[in-house]
Amino acid sequence: MALTGIEIYKFLPKTNCKKCGFPTCLAFAMKVAQKTVNITTCPDLSAESRAALEAAGRPPIQLVTLGSDSKKLEVGNETVMFRHEKTFFHPPGLVLRVKDNAPADSLQQQVQAAAEYKVERVGRFLTMDGFAVENTSKDAATFAKAVEAVKSKSDLPLVLISQDPAAMEAALAKATPGRPLIYAANKDNWEKMADLAVKNKCPLAVSSNGALDDLTALVDQVSKKGIEEIVLDPGARDFGPSLSTLTQIRRLALKKNFRPLGYPVITFPGEAAASLDTEAMLAAQQVAKYAGIIVLDHFSPALVYPLLTMRLNIYTDPQKPIQVTPQIVQIGTPKATSPVCITTNFSLTYFAIAGELEAAGWAAWLVVCDTEGLSVLTAWAAGKFDAEKIAKSVKNFKIADNVSHRNVVIPGHVAVLRGELEEELPDWKILVGPREAVDVGGFLKQNWKN
Ligand code: SF4
Repeated sequence: MALTGIEIYKFLPKTNCKKCGFPTCLAFAMKVAQKTVNITTCPDLSAESRAALEAAGRPPIQLVTLGSDSKKLEVGNETVMFRHEKTFFHPPGLVLRVKDNAPADSLQQQVQAAAEYKVERVGRFLTMDGFAVENTSKDAATFAKAVEAVKSKSDLPLVLISQDPAAMEAALAKATPGRPLIYAANKDNWEKMADLAVKNKCPLAVSSNGALDDLTALVDQVSKKGIEEIVLDPGARDFGPSLSTLTQIRRLALKKNFRPLGYPVITFPGEAAASLDTEAMLAAQQVAKYAGIIVLDHFSPALVYPLLTMRLNIYTDPQKPIQVTPQIVQIGTPKATSPVCITTNFSLTYFAIAGELEAAGWAAWLVVCDTEGLSVLTAWAAGKFDAEKIAKSVKNFKIADNVSHRNVVIPGHVAVLRGELEEELPDWKILVGPREAVDVGGFLKQNWKN
């Protein structure tokens, strides 16, 4: 949590010696709080004060990074309980669990299918985030071989699942470099697992099926080994326990600044699910509240697509809608006689109308107005999508140079703008289109002659 200037000032020498370039310690503290100067600029700061400031300035939920620079998964570093308070920063990673005793061909096929899965939504490509390889065989060599097989098909980040430090060591030899998550240290193996995490510079999961006190004690123990990137598994599996435990952990970390639980959480929705549907619902709950890494036991587009889109919605900054660039977009290969349609630069609106025009087989000119990323009705209500603005876009983008007609289709939700728009664009005939994007193909079929 960011410190205030006054809080930082308490740690300073308070001699006002000016060696930092500021007239007083308080002025320096204020600049440090604004992050315009580094605390190390004060040469007289004691080691104890510096350590205390660094600890106090640590985020309430530690950022944990898996994988390599080119394919990394970052989780944690959240600062609010609810998205509307500010925003959520790091979407939970969706990883697929594969078992090391599966036949090599089958294992590689599973990995390839999930690794290649990619779906576009509002201009973004959504994919799986990694794989969890489980040492089901209990054999170190088999585990290492499975890790090798997974890596031959994917460079996505890995979670290595074994309670056996010897098997973990063998798997790490194949998985590093690449910062896999070591899952997991428990009350019996924590010391050896912590040593492996330190030696291989990997994040470490700690697991406890008991009360949160047991988990806290384990975190303390591995922290003393110098491990900073920790992932928590509190053992809660079903809907109720998962919701209450993960909420409790988030609340203690953010509201009470309780450091031992200030880490992202790993979940296993498949372990409490008797069916694919239940696994998907539990995973969806954990996307919302409050998983950092979600280990799925099954992969299929039908299971993963809703989770990815829901995650995108929840982790989109509510104060910064996803936008596209205001411009004229050519749908297909439009001719001089093709329709001209007006829309806003809110991504969801833009991709909905563009997709429907394409699906209906229309080549068209789509004029994307700058509404600061707001949808049609919201922008209209906020005064960002009015007749003047639409007319300005039509003129500035010189759409008249591209077409031989003077007909323009506006969204049905802003039919009220028709009269004003006729005044703003006297050479143009204003057609009021459908309210819903899905109806645009039928509307043009009835009202447009190419
Ligand atoms: S150098 Fe340190 S002690 Fe001196 S004025 Fe700056 S903050 Fe204060």
